[in-house]
Amino acid sequence: MDLNTRVKAEIDNRRDALVALTRELIAIPTLNPPGRNYLEICEYLAARLAARGFTTELIRAKDAPGDSDRFPRWNLVARIDGARPGDCVHFNSHHDVVELGHGWTRDPFGGQIEGDRIYGRGACDMKGGLAASIIAAEAFLAACPDFAGAIEISATADEESGGFGGVAYLAQQGRFDPARVQHVIIPEPLHKDQICLGHRGVWWAEIETHGRIAHGSMPFLGDSAIRHMGVVLEEMEKTLFPLLANKHTEMPVIPEGARASTLNINSIHGGEPEQDADYTGLPAPCVADRCRIIIDRRFLIEEEIGQVKAEIANLMERAKARRPQFSYEIRDLFEVQPSMTDRDAPIVRSTASAIEAVLGREAAYVVSPGTYDQKHIDRIGRLKNCIAYGPGLLELAHQPDEWVGISDMADSAKVMALVLAELLAR
Ligand SMILES: [Zn+2]
Repeated sequence: MDLNTRVKAEIDNRRDALVALTRELIAIPTLNPPGRNYLEICEYLAARLAARGFTTELIRAKDAPGDSDRFPRWNLVARIDGARPGDCVHFNSHHDVVELGHGWTRDPFGGQIEGDRIYGRGACDMKGGLAASIIAAEAFLAACPDFAGAIEISATADEESGGFGGVAYLAQQGRFDPARVQHVIIPEPLHKDQICLGHRGVWWAEIETHGRIAHGSMPFLGDSAIRHMGVVLEEMEKTLFPLLANKHTEMPVIPEGARASTLNINSIHGGEPEQDADYTGLPAPCVADRCRIIIDRRFLIEEEIGQVKAEIANLMERAKARRPQFSYEIRDLFEVQPSMTDRDAPIVRSTASAIEAVLGREAAYVVSPGTYDQKHIDRIGRLKNCIAYGPGLLELAHQPDEWVGISDMADSAKVMALVLAELLAR
């Protein structure tokens, strides 16, 4: 039997183990926010991987955003070195899951099995992918104990809230230094036949319009910040949204609608603060002296962030030209550059040929509309040879009754194991 056939047989032998591992991970409720049970899941994984010869390290992102003694940001990095020097292949999964929300008809932490599906919060995003990568590594090690290089598996905190207590922290510590790690797969739920090369860029900003408070019965004595904002929104409708919809990208973003620039107005608030739900009084009559919106602009690899910001600055100046007393402020909140790994990068090529070998069809290449931890590996770690590839359907992420397909997990574990065989069995 050749190595690829043996590796695939080792995965088939581990189907029950793959299901059990996924269910055990789902049973640890690592809800974020606030960041529960991070130590518990890291210790569980460390014990499992140490038993299979991995060296394990638990790393707390001390004082990272979100880290506290009550909710410490724990991460696990496990590594196994081969018999000879060679490349290191790193699988990075986030261990946190988002809140449950309403609408569940199954126990979100029960790992209920129905046919080919396992249900639970995090089943697809992304405990199924984490389990698949562990089984892939274990199967490869069994089939090829005499490998070259190293395998690393990390389980990291806080991807759902920006990754600052997780991958960003590890990258700052040099954990993704290209001298230490050469290939990265992030098993996010992009489906077993797709390779995700990267993501669009992000710019979040707060825009505030200024007015002057006065009695609501004599609004002419004040100056309404909400009316100023109305003109800003009108400018957006008239000029900005059509402009963005016409900016198309060469990036293969999915879904198709995200293959252009987009802008979401995340929130709007003007005037008196909203009262608690149990407040029974009426509002006081006031002219709003402040109005704020938060904008979430997603931009393309063909765009420069400076140009993205200039579009908003110009729009605000157009609004200002129309209103004598208008004044405003724009505050930057957050930005991420777009990221797209080259199709010729070694990890992309090996994953594409493994998908063909396992599924008998060509890999599809996609780019994510939103960002994930690749941003930190790229920007802080300076490591470009990175993709997202894993089982599960992105549409199910963060939904009630989230599930992952057992056959999809097994197939993508085979793909990941064949990638190890191609890169490390030398
Ligand atoms: Zn995820």
